[in-house]
Amino acid sequence: MKNIGFIGLGIMGKPMAKNLLKAGYQLIVYDINAEPVKELFEAGAREGTSSQDVASQSEVIITMLPNSPEVREVVLGEKGIIYGVKPGTVLIDMSSITPLTSKELSEKLQQKGVAMLDAPVSGGEPKAIEGTLAIMAGGPKETFDMAKDILEVMGASVTRVGEIGSGNITKLANQIIVALNIAAMGEAMVLATKAGVDPEKVYQAIRGGLAGSTVLDAKMPLVLEGNFKPGFRIELHIKDLMNALDTARELNVPDILSSQVMEIMQSLKADGKAKDDHGGIIQYYEKLAKVEVRKE
Ligand code: NAD
Repeated sequence: MKNIGFIGLGIMGKPMAKNLLKAGYQLIVYDINAEPVKELFEAGAREGTSSQDVASQSEVIITMLPNSPEVREVVLGEKGIIYGVKPGTVLIDMSSITPLTSKELSEKLQQKGVAMLDAPVSGGEPKAIEGTLAIMAGGPKETFDMAKDILEVMGASVTRVGEIGSGNITKLANQIIVALNIAAMGEAMVLATKAGVDPEKVYQAIRGGLAGSTVLDAKMPLVLEGNFKPGFRIELHIKDLMNALDTARELNVPDILSSQVMEIMQSLKADGKAKDDHGGIIQYYEKLAKVEVRKE
C-alpha cells in the first residue's frame, strides 16, 4: 500500500481522507486549521508539519483546497510540496481550480520528475462521506491508471477525460449546469408559490418528468424546510463561475446565462448570504417576489 499525503481537510477533504484510512492506506495529513488534523490523527493518520513535510514522506499526495491561489501556495510557496517531493511522486489535486493553474503547476512539477492529475469532484459532502463522488480527471494515462484504485476509494465514478487541465474544464461545465439548474428551480418555484400553488405538490408533480433532475431532488426538500446550511457554499460557487467566466474569456466563448447567475450570487453575497448553501439562490427570487417557498 502506498503512503498517501493529504493536504486540505475541510468539508470535503476530511471525509475523503477518512475513507482512505478506512481502506487501509497509511496517511500523513496537513491543514492550516489544527482541528481536522487532530481528528484525523485520532482516526489513525500521522500529522505533517507542513506541505513540504507531507510531500517528503509520501508517494502520492492529494490536495483538496479552496481555489487556485491556495493550491499554488501549497505546491510552490514557502515549505511547499515542490521542496519536499522525490522524483516518481504523483500529485493528485482534487480542488476545483482554473485549468490554466493545473497546467502551470504540472509543468513546474514535471521538472522535478513529478506527475500530476487534476481530479476535481462533484457530489458534495454527503457523497464525500459515502465515498461515492463523481471524479473527473485530467493527466497522463499511465498516471491515471496508477492512481485509479486510490480514486475509487473516494468516488463511485472515476473518469479520465483527457490531458492535464481537462478535469477542471469538465468541473467548470458541471458547475455551470448546476448553477443554472438551481436558479431555474428558484425562478419556477417562486412563481408557483406566488400563484398560490403548494410548492411541495409542484415538486412532486414534476420530478418524474423532463424537468426532474438530480439538482431538483437534492435541493428542493431543503428549500421546503428553509434549510440553507452548507453543503456547498454560495461563495465557492461564485469562485467556480468566476473561473468559468475567466476561462470562457480566454477561449473567446460567450457565457451568457452564467454571467446572469453570477450576478444573482453576487447580490446574495452582498446581502450576507455568501456562506449559505447554493440551494439558497432561491432567496434572491423570494426577496424580489416577497414570498417564501416553504412546506405548507
Ligand atoms: P473548505 O473551505 O471546507 O476546505 C478547504 C480546506 O483547506 C480548509 O480546511 C482550509 O483550512 C485548508 N487550507 C486552506 N489553505 C491552506 C493551506 N495553505 N495549507 C493547508 N491547508 C489549507 O472547502 P471544501 O468545501 O472542502 O472544498 C474544497 C474544494 O472542493 C473546493 O475547490 C471546492 O470548490 C470543491 N468542492 C466542494 C464541494 C462541496 O460541496 N463543499 C463539492 C465539490 C467540490
